[in-house]
Amino acid sequence: MPFNIQKIRNDFPILSRKVNGYPLVYLDNAATSQKPQQVIDSIVDYYSNYNANIHRGVHTLSQEATDAYEGARQKIQTHFNAKEAYEIIFTAGTTHGINLVANGFSEILKKGDEIIVSAMEHHSNIVPWQMLCEKTGAILKVIPMNKEGVLIFSEYEKLLSEKTKLVFVNHISNALGTINPIAEIIEKARQVGAAVLVDGAQSCSHVKPDLQKLDVDFYVTSAHKMCGPTGVGILYMKEEWGNKLPPYQGGGEMIAEVTFEKTTYAGLPHKFEAGTPNICGVIAFGAAIDYLNAIGFEEIEKYENELLKYATQKLLEIEGLKIYGTGPEKTSVVSFNIEGIHPYDIGTIVDKLGIAVRTGHHCAQPIMDFYKIPGTVRASFAFYNTLEEVDALVNAVKKAKMMLS
Ligand SMILES: *Cc1c(COP(=O)(O)O)cnc(C)c1O
Repeated sequence: MPFNIQKIRNDFPILSRKVNGYPLVYLDNAATSQKPQQVIDSIVDYYSNYNANIHRGVHTLSQEATDAYEGARQKIQTHFNAKEAYEIIFTAGTTHGINLVANGFSEILKKGDEIIVSAMEHHSNIVPWQMLCEKTGAILKVIPMNKEGVLIFSEYEKLLSEKTKLVFVNHISNALGTINPIAEIIEKARQVGAAVLVDGAQSCSHVKPDLQKLDVDFYVTSAHKMCGPTGVGILYMKEEWGNKLPPYQGGGEMIAEVTFEKTTYAGLPHKFEAGTPNICGVIAFGAAIDYLNAIGFEEIEKYENELLKYATQKLLEIEGLKIYGTGPEKTSVVSFNIEGIHPYDIGTIVDKLGIAVRTGHHCAQPIMDFYKIPGTVRASFAFYNTLEEVDALVNAVKKAKMMLS
């Protein structure tokens, strides 16, 4: 299918609305993506035609809902190339998945064990681990980054030792757009016998990871960053970890009940899916994956790279504008500031012109501390954005600069 931007835009009803009298230019995709009609339809279809609780009834609606829910799991398994469908655990999102793993490791880590994080993580991939360290006496080590916003690999290698039990890094930084060399990070961790968790929240809308090829232990992401609904995500965990980690939520009796009713999967994934899950959200997540694959990830990546290149070039023409995150491997996120102007003020003015960007620390305060700035303006592009929208952003930023300086 050739990349037809107008056809794609027509799939997203929200893109035709106005904001403050101007056509909406939505450039906050790193915070959450917009939803195509196909995903919205799948939600309406579920509640209109086969809403029922799953895994629990012999009646037709319950079976239809169960089939759709488990069908989505298989779709997601195929998409991420997990070995087994039951290695895909449905969560409320990335944050939930990380907390589930951190909770499990509280029974594995001993005092003095070391765990490694990177300097460019989202708070949700920092705080649960700090809590884990407080509980267990394990020690948190940090892979530093350089001024370009790239992890210093040789420093990472120095941190690794027999004491390292777990490494957790994001695949792509939401604040800088840097793509981290996760394959190499995993390979090095393997050499000391450490497990690896990859936070894929920011990457899954841009690239299609192959989990078996990566040989990663844990991979987490959120549906809402990849055209799906909020409140649902996945935690992939290798079967051996699924068997090893204790359940996160629900009492023992909940787990026993789920096990009791189980017919197909021995413990996994239901061990970690206590309670009625987000049935509709999971089904719509499956619809989102279908939608993205129909466009094609190679096409998406190529097009977004064009947007990134153009936006970078045009924004840098503005005097006093500085971009944070200038490494060679980047996705379509441009984080910037203009000398002497607070990012919040730029964000407010461009919103008056219909343009949605994010300002602040982007849940990654250590990065802002590293650059000694309060925050940045972040424009993050998706495959449904256009070069004309980049122009609108650049013109709005110029206007804001004129008004503020
Ligand atoms: C968005 C994001 C998260 C948090 O995702 P939630 O859906 O809020 O749980 C974590 N890490 C990265 C890199 C993100 O972009």
